[in-house]
Amino acid sequence: DLWKARGTVHFDRVRFQYTEDAVILPDLDLEIPAGQTIALVGTTGAGKSTLAKLIARFYDPTEGAVTLDGVDLRKLHPKDLRRAIVMVTQEAYLFSGTVADNIALGKPEASRDEIVRAAKAVGAHAFIEALPDGYDTDVNKRGGRVSAGQRQLISFARAFLADPVVLILDEATASLDIPSERLVQQGLQTLLADRTAVIIAHRLSTVTIADRVLVMEHGRVIEDGTPAEL
Ligand code: ATP
Ligand code: MG
Repeated sequence: DLWKARGTVHFDRVRFQYTEDAVILPDLDLEIPAGQTIALVGTTGAGKSTLAKLIARFYDPTEGAVTLDGVDLRKLHPKDLRRAIVMVTQEAYLFSGTVADNIALGKPEASRDEIVRAAKAVGAHAFIEALPDGYDTDVNKRGGRVSAGQRQLISFARAFLADPVVLILDEATASLDIPSERLVQQGLQTLLADRTAVIIAHRLSTVTIADRVLVMEHGRVIEDGTPAEL
């Protein structure tokens, strides 16, 4: 399989409804150029997660199409789709197992070296090393030592290792202390480099590092501009 996506995502006149009685996205036409970082903002119920899930193909449009480099997602081989597009949701930040296991979910065949390199890239290595068993620490130990910010960094390392051309991130709402916030911010910037990204943004700091901000309301994009413009 020689197919390698560049990462242009297009919503081509997409209408979407979960059920017959409610239209969630009435008519979405949106081009996301390869390499662009988009921050999605808007009130609860606006349709942000729905838009994100359509890119990850959790659902298919009711009408219209979502394409990657011009190819309808429905026509992509599931293996190609999973390699090209990765979605990181806040519910799925950590699973039971060790820190290393959690990072390796991004690439099951990864060596310990690759895992450590991914952790270093996003700024997670230092705190992982300081855990009781380092990379072999069980993250499932309730009341354990892994904070909200550290969880996010581990999920960033996982996504970095997976290295998708399109990354979708539903940012955690948990508030972080200032040093953690800075660390997460830096990790995020490294993670975003050289790929297309759509982030459901809950932090102002994330909005400011985006190339483009989309404000959603009732399933429509009501504002579309740079962080400076909005
Ligand atoms: P939040 O900021 O609260 O996460 P959101 O912008 O992500 O909100 P969505 O989760 O996309 O909003 O929801 C958009 C609309 O779709 C809401 O009215 C919601 O109730 C509805 N909805 C979401 N998921 C489903 C589902 N699985 N089945 C039916 N309706 C759904
Ligand atoms: Mg949501």
